[in-house]
Amino acid sequence: MTDGARSATPPGLTPREVATHCPYCALQCGMTLRADDAGVTVHPREFPTNRGGLCQKGWTAAELLDHPDRLTTPLVRDAATGELHPASWDDALDRVVAGIRAVQHDAGRDAVAVFGGGGLTNEKAYALGKFARIGLRTRHIDYNGRFCMSSAAAAGMRAFGIDRGLPFPLADLGRADTLLLVGANPAETMPPLVRWLTEQRRNGGKLIVIDPRVTATARQADLHLQPLPGTDLAVANALLHIALTEGWVDRDYVADRTTGFDAVRRGVAAWWPARAEQLSGVPVADLEATARALGTGGRVIILTARGAEQHAKGVDTVTAYVNLALALGLPGRDGSGYGCLTGQGNGQGGREHGQKADQLPGYRKIDDPAAREHVAGVWGVPADELPGPGVPAYQLLDSLGTPGGPRALLVFGSNPVVSAPRAARIEGRLRDLDLLVVADLLLSETATLADVVLPTAQWAEEDGTMTNLEGRVLRRRALRPPPPGVRTDLAIISDLAARLADAEPTDVDPASVRPAAVAAARFPADPAAVFAELRRASAGGAADYAGISWDRIDADDGVYWPCPTEDGPDTPRLFADRFATADGRARFHPVDHRPAAEEVCATYPLHFTTGRVLAQYQSGTQTRRVAALRRAAPEAFVELHPDLATRLGIDDGDPVRVTSRRGEFRAPARLSAGIRPDTVFAPFHYAGAGRANSVTNDAVDPISGMPEFKICAVRVEKA
Ligand code: SF4
Repeated sequence: MTDGARSATPPGLTPREVATHCPYCALQCGMTLRADDAGVTVHPREFPTNRGGLCQKGWTAAELLDHPDRLTTPLVRDAATGELHPASWDDALDRVVAGIRAVQHDAGRDAVAVFGGGGLTNEKAYALGKFARIGLRTRHIDYNGRFCMSSAAAAGMRAFGIDRGLPFPLADLGRADTLLLVGANPAETMPPLVRWLTEQRRNGGKLIVIDPRVTATARQADLHLQPLPGTDLAVANALLHIALTEGWVDRDYVADRTTGFDAVRRGVAAWWPARAEQLSGVPVADLEATARALGTGGRVIILTARGAEQHAKGVDTVTAYVNLALALGLPGRDGSGYGCLTGQGNGQGGREHGQKADQLPGYRKIDDPAAREHVAGVWGVPADELPGPGVPAYQLLDSLGTPGGPRALLVFGSNPVVSAPRAARIEGRLRDLDLLVVADLLLSETATLADVVLPTAQWAEEDGTMTNLEGRVLRRRALRPPPPGVRTDLAIISDLAARLADAEPTDVDPASVRPAAVAAARFPADPAAVFAELRRASAGGAADYAGISWDRIDADDGVYWPCPTEDGPDTPRLFADRFATADGRARFHPVDHRPAAEEVCATYPLHFTTGRVLAQYQSGTQTRRVAALRRAAPEAFVELHPDLATRLGIDDGDPVRVTSRRGEFRAPARLSAGIRPDTVFAPFHYAGAGRANSVTNDAVDPISGMPEFKICAVRVEKA
């Protein structure tokens, strides 16, 4: 298959229809795209996860295909005027290559960095990681998935030896007797998933939600625990304390399948329920009712999401819920378990194949000599040519343009000007670069700062694979080729690799300059060829895709990794017999509550937390341009409790200013009794004056590098 070519027409569809998946979140709902004289339309498709459901974002996704804001030619910044102007592909790519070579010549290979995205297909994520490591030979690559679920990934790795969001199919949720959601609001972030929650309760199950706000999901719960932001860890330790006291811990499971429980048992002994209530505000009776439902509930599932993760103690918070799940004997038990709800469309696959600073394809560690040998062998380079680990996303962004930091950045599928914490500071760092290159389909806020903007294909114009929240690898199928003037990300990477190889040798490392033809062959633009290579590179790794073919995905409604052989089974459920650790046992880790990185004070007396709304997605680059979504959620808002509003002299709809030590943003007030009076909330999808990330804290988790999006101290006043 050639770049941009159409997939074969699946059985039952006309040549002008294609069975694919939504471009947005990790639920990756099945949909059919149909082209007719009126344009491209979206039709829901029966698929095991969404069962024919789509949310408003999915329904309207095709509107961007022919949107007037769509980029259809490269843009290059004119040095004299400072404006972006249309340019030919040759001129734009030459400018990129000249800029990269100049920076490498002056400051070395690590002075060029790459920033990827959790929406890129597996093929793109793989190619981008490979391009960074052997095309640019820089250690600096990371991606916006670091802001999404890196804390759960790290907690899963240290407890289970593997990181797969859900280690069981989504359908298991419908069978759970007790389902605990921690910091998850799927009713707004992935509405079709709610069908499973409805089914669960119809089957007599109990739904418990832990969230500081009365969200659309919390309203459906049998029990809602509403802790102070940043106290989820203490709540988990108290739940385990109660389970121990009541004798609900599965001692046989703990003895046979885990290590390290004694230290956890000693740690949670200090978290008697009244102490947790004093800290979190969750009544003892609710803690006891929750522990009882978990400890005596038959099939029990605990799920965490961004609310638990996006803290400077996110790994420890998730670990506390993993400890609870292990103590109750849940992981690996039929119908039970612990899982994390992934956010971005390919948040799972995007981190498995080399976009993360410390990882090589197949979820291999870049500092593991055997992993380096294997991947270098597939790439046809000596292992010692591969750079070492880089730094996590925020650290990378915050070092741009600073002494010793990268001076050139290539961004694919990400908009950190809106999505990064302490965003004004990151915007300044981007402005300080010698060269900023952004590949995107629209002129995002980050792209407006770029020296070169490269227009890329959309999801309906490319083939590839995505890995959903269950670890199920899916096919993305092209309905039509990209419009004239637009290239796929894979084609851009291939072009850049060829031109970099062809560029004048420099004193960076003349020996490493390779002929263009060799470089182009090494970076094919054909997604099928890239996937074939990805399979070889991932073979033997934790996320083993070696046995996954596109044909098999078509035949089986997706294939769960690990899947090492084409004729062997895939793995819908993990941990039935053993965990992915050396001795097959899961690991307990004692964790304790610690305060947020920034506490409230007289000047900044309120807790601030961020989140999502149904009609917008991530930084909003795409969804803010869709008419129906813009009408539904046109601007940022500041949600605050009526009692707090009265105290501050604020009425519903008044413009308010939210100020932290890092900056401010403005948005209309939205009064809601569903939020704690000591906490205010805003969605983070918006740019400009309504950019919530102007105030968020850039403190990061020491293990995962996850920023503390979910809590900081602010002042709120009428603007
Ligand atoms: S945004 Fe998510 S929930 Fe909505 S249709 Fe797309 S994949 Fe499904």
